[in-house]
Amino acid sequence: MRIVLVGPPGAGKGTQAQFISSHLAIPRISTGDIFRFNVTSNTELGRMAKTFMERGDLVPDEVTVAMVRDRLSEEDAQEGFLLDGYPRNVPQAETLKKMLAEWDARLSVVLELVVDEDEVVRRLSGRRTCRRCERVWHVLYDPPTRDGTCDDCGGELFQRDDDTEETVRHRLEVYNEQTSPLIAFYADEGVLIGIDATGPVEEVTSRALAALRPFVR
Ligand code: AMP
Repeated sequence: MRIVLVGPPGAGKGTQAQFISSHLAIPRISTGDIFRFNVTSNTELGRMAKTFMERGDLVPDEVTVAMVRDRLSEEDAQEGFLLDGYPRNVPQAETLKKMLAEWDARLSVVLELVVDEDEVVRRLSGRRTCRRCERVWHVLYDPPTRDGTCDDCGGELFQRDDDTEETVRHRLEVYNEQTSPLIAFYADEGVLIGIDATGPVEEVTSRALAALRPFVR
């Protein structure tokens, strides 16, 4: 199964992607995580991406597309994948379509997580990520038992540099201008399904899995 998750920053893509990919036994490919890993490891790619990420802007398409092509060529992605954070604009979606066609493949479904903007700002400013296992928590909605520590692995939790209110607002503008046209693009392709992404995490996961069920082979 080849799935793309779309939705504004803070819609819960990362969290839902973890549950869905483990449930369907397909790799989760998050371009944001790959960029963050490269920033932390101080690679050439990371140094290049850092300035864009800190501003909440998109990393240039040439760089992102090459990185996604490499990742999708890996062995574990041949039978399916869940893309989280890619594509982020229509040109990236066009490139993905061509890339898959070269491999005689196509997307099975695009799942849109629908959530309104005020909720997004509330969610992002309370978001905390585990340094070790990348599990995402929320200080109000999904708090760990001990402040600042991941329940799953004991790792330290941190707030992403781009989760401050000012950057969050800018990322939403970028989403509205560049990413939201993907909704019409994939609706035209006949592969879009939307689900309500508000409410408890487990309920959203159940809705997501129910929506995806007809596409599971
Ligand atoms: P995310 O974790 O998906 O919110 O991504 C964090 C940041 O990484 C974004 O704000 C962008 O700067 C960059 N990024 C992630 N995915 C992409 C993409 N597909 N195209 C361009 N930039 C991206």
